[in-house]
Amino acid sequence: MAPTITPVETAPGFPPRTSVVIIGGGIVGLTAALTLAEKNIPVVVLEKGRLAGEQSSRNLGWVRKTIRAAPDVPLAIAADRLWAEMATRVGANVGYGRTGIMYLDRTEADVAGHEDWLKSVSHLSLDSRLVTPSEIDELVPGGEGKWAGGLYTPSDGHADPTLAASAIAKAAISKGAVVVENCAVRTLSLEAGRVAGVVTERGEIRCDHVLLAGGLWSRRFLGNLGISLPTLPLVCSAFRSPPMQGPCKIGVAGPDFSFCQHQDGSFIMTQRAALMAPLTLDHVLIGMRYLSQLRGNRGIVRMKVERETIDDLKLPRRWGPADESPFEKRRVMDPPTISTFNREAVANLGAAWPLFKGVEIKSAWAGTMDITPDTHPVIGPVASIPGLTLATGFSGHGFGTSPAAGQLAAELVTGETPIVDPAPYRFERF
Ligand SMILES: Cc1cc2nc3c(=O)[nH]c(=O)nc-3n(C[C@H](O)[C@H](O)[C@H](O)COP(=O)(O)OP(=O)(O)OC[C@H]3O[C@@H](n4cnc5c(N)ncnc54)[C@H](O)[C@@H]3O)c2cc1C
Repeated sequence: MAPTITPVETAPGFPPRTSVVIIGGGIVGLTAALTLAEKNIPVVVLEKGRLAGEQSSRNLGWVRKTIRAAPDVPLAIAADRLWAEMATRVGANVGYGRTGIMYLDRTEADVAGHEDWLKSVSHLSLDSRLVTPSEIDELVPGGEGKWAGGLYTPSDGHADPTLAASAIAKAAISKGAVVVENCAVRTLSLEAGRVAGVVTERGEIRCDHVLLAGGLWSRRFLGNLGISLPTLPLVCSAFRSPPMQGPCKIGVAGPDFSFCQHQDGSFIMTQRAALMAPLTLDHVLIGMRYLSQLRGNRGIVRMKVERETIDDLKLPRRWGPADESPFEKRRVMDPPTISTFNREAVANLGAAWPLFKGVEIKSAWAGTMDITPDTHPVIGPVASIPGLTLATGFSGHGFGTSPAAGQLAAELVTGETPIVDPAPYRFERF
């Protein structure tokens, strides 16, 4: 069953006019809303389903700088600082802890890969370092796996997805943001080519700016406006154990498993090497742009014609403001759990750390990630539609950076000095 976030009391409707409309109540849209509300800028968040009902409640909660591409690290460094302040800022626990993250290497070639990454970020003064097999034994005791080494970043950590989005949403609401659930945005209202509002399933709302933080739906939303945002769906399966004794607080990523203990003592785990790509029309249209990513992938991407393939074909790609949109037809993207991946993860975990042998799967779920060809998100304006800004395409690692990404998006909307250089995230790079 998909994780549910702590409930949030949202608004029954929206005002006729606001300054900024945010499309999408995931963690990115919500942090952007919090940033704007803190500056007393009128903001309305419109969510087609339930807050954080898609990726933002289903992720593993990892907050990491480790193995991010160098241009993406400054955003992750900024996010670390914001996560550390978040509980005070929102007045609630978000489950954040700087408990470290470690990636394990099976072969010397893996170690060399991590050494190359360290060189690529040497100018950024990270605390990441290579660790030897005996250091792994000390830091993560009780293991039986054979490792050539690992890459460890003590200042990385995790937050709890079921706590974070609701705490951020409640804080944004308390500061004046209007947050509405079950309200799909069908399209933009344009005047002289500029954003003048959005058309929702419940009527129009006028605004000066729109921030599209629609996760994997952003491609379809923009496609209807004649704009091609390259993202493809990729499904990851995960599960949670009951509270239990673990080897350490560090989040550990092996080649074919990962585990991380949360504040309630439970572990969120996954089969790291296995992802499922439900084949869609988009794979035919833009799949070629992902060839280098596929070649570099060390794990297994299982491409399948799935229920999602049929569902995807049934959803319209073009519609008008008066038509029921795809976003009303699919309130929540809820892919089926991939039990084989979860079983593989349990077996791989048990072989590496015997205390996980036969670990109970208390709840299991899957989530669909929105992957761009270079795995960087898009955070920035769309030149062809003044007033439209994107914060989307987080490529399976947007929870960790979300406090900084949402802030960056808000600053690009208002024209303030951005928290980091937005150049790596420009839409025009595609
Ligand atoms: C299994 C799994 C594990 C992951 N693990 C990690 C991790 O450990 N660390 C990490 O950093 N990242 C992780 N991620 C990725 C991370 O969850 C995402 O990058 C992040 O949550 C993206 O947030 P978002 O707000 O952009 O998107 P989402 O959470 O997908 O939110 C987008 C929202 O927009 C809404 N929406 C879309 N279109 C419309 C519309 N037209 N009208 C109204 N609403 C609309 C959707 O309903 C949705 O709620 C993981 C993802 C998955 C699936």
